Amino acid sequence: MPPRRINDSYMDVDSDESDVSILDDDAGPRKSKGKGKAIDRGRDKGKSKVKEQPYAWEASYVRSWDTVQEDERGSLQGAVQDLIARGRRKRLLAPAAAIRRTIIRHLIILLDLSSSMMDRDMRPTRFDLTLQYTREFITEWFDQNPLGQIGIVGMRSGIGERIGEMSGNPQEVLKSISERHKLEPNGEPSLQNAIEMARSSMSHLPTHSSREIIAIFGSLTTCDPGNIHDTLDECVKDRIRISMVALAAEMKICREICDKTGGQFSVALNEGHFKDILFELIPPPAQRAVPRASGPGINPAADLMVMGFPTRLPVTSPPALCVCHSELKSEGFLCPRCSAKICDVPTDCDICGLMIVSSPHLARSYHHLFPVKPYQPVMTMEGVAYPASACHGCAVPFREIATPAGSLATDGMSPLGRYRCPECSNDFCGDCDVFVHDVVHCCPGCGK
Ligand SMILES: [Zn+2]
Ligand SMILES: [Zn+2]
Ligand SMILES: [Zn+2]
Ligand SMILES: [Zn+2]
Repeated sequence: MPPRRINDSYMDVDSDESDVSILDDDAGPRKSKGKGKAIDRGRDKGKSKVKEQPYAWEASYVRSWDTVQEDERGSLQGAVQDLIARGRRKRLLAPAAAIRRTIIRHLIILLDLSSSMMDRDMRPTRFDLTLQYTREFITEWFDQNPLGQIGIVGMRSGIGERIGEMSGNPQEVLKSISERHKLEPNGEPSLQNAIEMARSSMSHLPTHSSREIIAIFGSLTTCDPGNIHDTLDECVKDRIRISMVALAAEMKICREICDKTGGQFSVALNEGHFKDILFELIPPPAQRAVPRASGPGINPAADLMVMGFPTRLPVTSPPALCVCHSELKSEGFLCPRCSAKICDVPTDCDICGLMIVSSPHLARSYHHLFPVKPYQPVMTMEGVAYPASACHGCAVPFREIATPAGSLATDGMSPLGRYRCPECSNDFCGDCDVFVHDVVHCCPGCGK
């Protein structure tokens, strides 16, 4: 049977177990073709420790009800806690130290709209799933990168097709991919044409912003007019970072493009894994080392940049035309340099080119640079003279008795349901822990 999937980790397929016994393990109709291949492939590379999982196109069907398991009392609470624990553990592995990251990001999403996207190995189709995940990705991306901009380019019928212009407004970007019938997959994809189109729309960008391309690629071929290696060299020269999520299998050229431009390449195994690897691309990438001019005191030129904070017009102000849509409106913002009226921030002023941001946007971009330190799970209350009786965040009382679950400890779960901030030593409940790190990005105890 296909190894079960529980969140992001997989059930072990014992390496000394033969393929036959895996397949005989469970009754029921399923294809055994290709399954053995997936396992053999892993062994050939000498990676028998890597947990094996068949690709979505290799497995015949998945028993999704197996992924969540009830405990002895028929409750799902254990399963839910397990999910939270895994999230915590992932975060603990993330580097807590401050690293230099780009906060003004420019991203082009390349969507494969070739006929291979109609394959049904991912349900309902690769195309529908890609659209759905892309929408969720865009929302989440803008939430974490409020100063960024996204554009969308499609690949179909051998050409690159501009679907959405580069924009800092999530609604505009989502609107460009909202009409499914306009994106109907057709023909062959051309990686080179699409990358060239993305490259040309980022060529004008200033040096302090990142240039990124994320390609979701379902095809196993690319149909190019010229030498794609020339395009690759140009991208390296322009410092464009290309990451790819392949839906079918690894192609050498795709791997090479990602490696040379410093991006990530991954192949989605199934629907859930597809989402995981796509969402891994949301946090801003660490900035590659910039050669320093001389000495540690002198920063590269990109360190300082001009930004303007706009004046917000009240709803009662007299209507005027905006410079971005030429619409007559009362509300809007005034550029602090040229007093042009614009509809939305953050944006670049259409008249003077000044980057216009609001301070909450800046503040929200800040948390990537100084993440809240992970809270430590409290294992025992011994040696604490006056333990807090309630969560410092939400004032819900802690439970008195520890849950006697030994496996929780290894997953970064506290048996007492207490998580302690290493800075201010206040105790928080599990819910607050997740909320502080995922939403607030600031410890309510110490303000760090
Ligand atoms: Zn406007
Ligand atoms: Zn202006
Ligand atoms: Zn709490
Ligand atoms: Zn704290």
